[in-house]
Amino acid sequence: AHLDRINAVDEKVHAFLHVDTDGALEAARAVDAKRAAGEELGPLAGVPLALKDVFTTKGIPTTAGSKMLEGWRPPYDATVTRRLKEAGVVILGKTNMDEFAMGSSTENSAYGPTGNPWDLSRIPGGSGGGSAAALAAFEAPLAIGTDTGGSIRQPGAVTGTVGVKPTYGSVSRYGLIAFSSSLDQGGPCARTVLDTALLHEAIAGWDPMDSTSINAPVPAVVAAARHADVKGMRVGVVKEFGGEGYQAGVMQRFNESVELLRSLGAEIVEISCPSFTYALPAYYLIAPSECSSNLARFDAMRYGLRVGDNGERSAEEVTALTREAGFGPEVKRRIMLGTYALSSGYYDAYYGSAQKVRTLISRDFDRAFGDVDVLISPTTPTTAFPIGERADDPMAMYLADLCTIPSNLAGNAAMSVPCGLAPEDNLPVGLQIIAPALADDRLYRVGAAVE
Ligand code: GLN
Repeated sequence: AHLDRINAVDEKVHAFLHVDTDGALEAARAVDAKRAAGEELGPLAGVPLALKDVFTTKGIPTTAGSKMLEGWRPPYDATVTRRLKEAGVVILGKTNMDEFAMGSSTENSAYGPTGNPWDLSRIPGGSGGGSAAALAAFEAPLAIGTDTGGSIRQPGAVTGTVGVKPTYGSVSRYGLIAFSSSLDQGGPCARTVLDTALLHEAIAGWDPMDSTSINAPVPAVVAAARHADVKGMRVGVVKEFGGEGYQAGVMQRFNESVELLRSLGAEIVEISCPSFTYALPAYYLIAPSECSSNLARFDAMRYGLRVGDNGERSAEEVTALTREAGFGPEVKRRIMLGTYALSSGYYDAYYGSAQKVRTLISRDFDRAFGDVDVLISPTTPTTAFPIGERADDPMAMYLADLCTIPSNLAGNAAMSVPCGLAPEDNLPVGLQIIAPALADDRLYRVGAAVE
């Protein structure tokens, strides 16, 4: 049924870069056979899923939205891919994304933009716009995203779906094509909080293949999603996020969510996190710095595209020609920014200062979580904007992640859950919930109470 749905609507939505019809049917039949044999099956056995094209899938094209990896078929599965398969999840295909996960609109994909199913002329968010659009268009009930600065939560918010960035280190990055390794985190997306929780438990957990993987028990997020009770919880409203510069309908729905939580017995307090004001500039030094280093591997020699190799040019010339042809403008912008920020003489002023801001942000969170159980804010300042509106204005594009970035810098857990439509444009609004590291279960308790 989901493959039929994809066939019917994906020409318009363009959520998928690759649909693995044969593999999906084979996986579904394998689950059927196990069921017929009386084998005990997990809760997600046979459930279809859309996988962001930044996770390696053995033998299945994996592009990270870039021409650089066009036609590449990885020789191995990412840990997330492997866990999904072990859970009997049916992987329908790979979803569209901003190139190497750099962007907030999916317009930076080398394979063309994805439409927001609520209004196809608008962006579905990014970088994981394909995964969110697949959910909103009912092409898949589950999806996987990655969140380096908001790429799970912001697409969730603007498509009326649920997205969670788990605690940094709780979902393995092995086989996740690296953008900014100290920030990248895979996570679950779905249309309901409980579905998201079931997927969370399937993919999270320690992995010896990822040196930053946390060796700690996965919080009981499914039980929390079923609990849905906020009585007595202390909920902090982040003072720095909201008000001026935010769309009126976004603030209206956010304020209603605050009142809903109060009426359900939560205690609401205003919390100030002054360093959050500097999160965006710090992020746009740290993420490009790490990306300039991570993307050095695309050298035309090891895998992917190779341009201009006529047997006479030097390796350096072929590498330069290939990187010029294979990377899009946003990726090049970031590699240049990052290379500059890391260069000798500038390192302390740029990268070093950004790391100090990162510490201040973590301290703001620590102070806040000494007082409250969770923090809340709007997920994004506006609803989905029209395709093309911010495409040539990187600064305007970067603002889409104003509220989501602090959690990446601090490595804690955060969710976006739908909280209604903005009255002025009838487009979805997201409520962001933030919990301390390794307290991901709190997101689900609060998210399930308000959804
Ligand atoms: N939009 C942010 C960026 O462009 C975040 C991307 C992400 O989370 N992958 O870097």
